[in-house]
Amino acid sequence: MMLEQQQNPNETSCDPSRRQFINQASRGLMAMGVAGGLLGVVDNAEARPGEAASSLWPQGTGPTDVQLPEIHAKTEPKGGGVPNPQPVDQRVGYAVVGLGHLTLEEILPALSESKKSKLVALVSGSPDKMQKIARQYGIKPDNCYSYETYDKLKDNKEVEVIYIVLPNSMHMEYTVRGAKAGKHILCEKPMANSAKECEKMIEACEKAGKKLMIAYRIQYEPMNRKVQELVRSKAYGKTKMIEAMNCQNQGDPNQWRQKKALAGGGALPDVGLYCLNTVRFLLGEEPSEVTAQLYSTPGDPRFREVEENVTFTLRFPSGVLANCATGYGSYNAKRYRVYGETGWIQMDPAFSYHGLKLERANADPEGNESKAAVSIGEKNQFALEMDHFSECVKANKQPYTPGEEGLQDQRIMEAIYQSAREGGKPVKLPSVAKQDAFRGSPPVASK
Ligand code: NAD
Repeated sequence: MMLEQQQNPNETSCDPSRRQFINQASRGLMAMGVAGGLLGVVDNAEARPGEAASSLWPQGTGPTDVQLPEIHAKTEPKGGGVPNPQPVDQRVGYAVVGLGHLTLEEILPALSESKKSKLVALVSGSPDKMQKIARQYGIKPDNCYSYETYDKLKDNKEVEVIYIVLPNSMHMEYTVRGAKAGKHILCEKPMANSAKECEKMIEACEKAGKKLMIAYRIQYEPMNRKVQELVRSKAYGKTKMIEAMNCQNQGDPNQWRQKKALAGGGALPDVGLYCLNTVRFLLGEEPSEVTAQLYSTPGDPRFREVEENVTFTLRFPSGVLANCATGYGSYNAKRYRVYGETGWIQMDPAFSYHGLKLERANADPEGNESKAAVSIGEKNQFALEMDHFSECVKANKQPYTPGEEGLQDQRIMEAIYQSAREGGKPVKLPSVAKQDAFRGSPPVASK
């Protein structure tokens, strides 16, 4: 609304005090937009995020009120609609720790698309890189921290959430220190390198009275959520079997992912975890037994410390058998298929950041098969995930994927490794009767 007024040619005729007000307001918005990662490189923001908005606009007005008239026939495909974000001064402030691939390629851009979350601080061990990124995203020098000054986040009121995007072995330390600094923690998957570490992370957040969520983006992604709905409503009868596969061909043998101490394992905790976590998410029940096999190409320097391939079968109390496979040496494949009594549902790709595809097949009572692609508008998974956490922080709700969800995956992965070590012998898991036993409040659908 405001920017429209600014561009209006009639503006030149408005009185000087009104023009001054509009100019001040636009400068304020620019500052907030930059701090929220909405714009590119500009001069340093003059105002702290939100200050300009709360001093210029009365509560209850702003972009959340805007509705546009329909311009297409009802039979046309629906557009995305007005996003209706929270006013910037009301969004939850994030400090992102670790400026590697995931942060720079996905998380920071996603913060520009989020509606309840905003970037306000950075933590990195590379000051030069951080300075460049801070300038791009309008982060003040005062809001840039090193690993050594990380604990000083305690004194930064703008930061409510710390998002940990570091190598797996560092998740525990930065969660514990972050909780002690009085911040809520969003931690990348895998939660940690062992169940013991996961337990310490949960305990530290509980002790500090802070929330802990594991960044399982697939559980917030609309197509995978649609599959969950089809499975749980038995749209194609009872689920009988699931196949899931997540493979990628690793490059540099010296990267942290190929080091056991930093990564905890190879393909399994990095990409195989998607198969495990998604199958549990679709069914809502917990496996009672696992069997597994493991293989690494002899002499391949990438697999000196961590495994290349793992296949594992999860047996569920309802009778569902899920066959999963993961690999670090074969070409990109990220898919699953759920087999029901009267049809199947497939996601291929299922675990990518973009371009997910949902297909289903079933037969009518006469046995005529129909296959169809189900189309659901693509959403930024990272933005949805962060906005869910922000909503939980604001409304004091348990996140859908809390620390307990990450701990359960870790326990199952430990059982998978045990079975592989014991030549594929079945390993029993403690029985869990409750549905969605480790999940909190489900995400609210967002435009
Ligand atoms: P990356 O190697 O690209 O970045 C890691 C960052 O950690 C770098 O900025 C690096 O400088 C820093 N770092 C600090 N100490 C380090 C050390 N001792 N060794 C190596 N790097 C160190 O990794 P990434 O792909 O950004 O992954 C980071 C985390 O995010 C991992 O836990 C990974 O599993 C997770 N991840 C999640 C997804 C997802 O889709 N949710 C995708 C990729 C990665």
